[in-house]
Amino acid sequence: MRYGFDIGGTKIAFAVYNEQLTLLESEVYATPAHDYDAFLALITRLVLQADARFGSQANVGLGFPGVLDGRGNILAPNVPAIHGRDLLSDLQQRLNRAVYGDNDANCFLLSEYHGGAVSGSQLALGLTLGTGMGGALIYEGRLVNSDRAGCGEFGHGPVGADVLLRHPGLPLYPCGCGRIACLETYVSGTGLARLYRHFGGHECDGKAIIAAWLRGETEAKCCMDTYFDVLGAGLGTLMTQLDPDAVVLGGSLGETTWLHEALAERLPAYMMKGIEPAPVRPPVFGGAGGVRGAALLAGQPDLPFSSPV
Ligand code: BGC
Ligand code: ZN
Repeated sequence: MRYGFDIGGTKIAFAVYNEQLTLLESEVYATPAHDYDAFLALITRLVLQADARFGSQANVGLGFPGVLDGRGNILAPNVPAIHGRDLLSDLQQRLNRAVYGDNDANCFLLSEYHGGAVSGSQLALGLTLGTGMGGALIYEGRLVNSDRAGCGEFGHGPVGADVLLRHPGLPLYPCGCGRIACLETYVSGTGLARLYRHFGGHECDGKAIIAAWLRGETEAKCCMDTYFDVLGAGLGTLMTQLDPDAVVLGGSLGETTWLHEALAERLPAYMMKGIEPAPVRPPVFGGAGGVRGAALLAGQPDLPFSSPV
């Protein structure tokens, strides 16, 4: 048995899998966003209750947004409760078992590599478009990673100059990472909502913006046109630089057919001339990729580039 957690800024997904990775149970909880003790207590309670229900003591895998600082502390500005904390060691002590952790986008791609959209690919690139923008790479079956879990922070690359020329007046937003005009500030869920307000739209979430775009509303059209260009240019750059043979897009925005159609139209313009874009696929495991990948991590303590405690 394996327990997986996918930690986000607003929710925590918890799932129990058997050794064949069949899902036995999954639940979603609100993240105690600012309270580390409450955070530890929630994870501990869920694990101990699952132990009691299943009569076992399974290892724990955990996907978190952000990186490790080299001393084991998580740097995750999107989740203040765990920012700067040695979460993996603290949980290991409380739970008296191995706790494995890695970046949430790494977990997502790991899952999509094992029986998912990019299985069998030599160099797989994964991007997640949710509260933030995450990125990950798998080369010949292994996550490209370090003991800081920091490889693939593609959301913190700059918006393309050609996009800025095409969209004069596009604001340069400050990013949580400390820089400005990162891809994440435009193409994450938060970024999309901000872009929509920039084009005169009202305060609302991604779903409402998409609905407005599908009805042909002008503000939403301007917003989505910019969104597709920023993402197309960002992904085109990554494709040219890394030459992946398959790409999978995750997160609530990455799963939609219209996003894939829009990207297919725009990508060629943002690739090195003469180079074909790699296939971009929706995730096979939908929103469960992160938590499934975390469970995979828990079952493979010998993964060379994961971050076991
Ligand atoms: C973080 C990444 C994370 C992504 C998605 C970004 O802000 O820097 O580490 O994978 O959000 O949660
Ligand atoms: Zn950034």
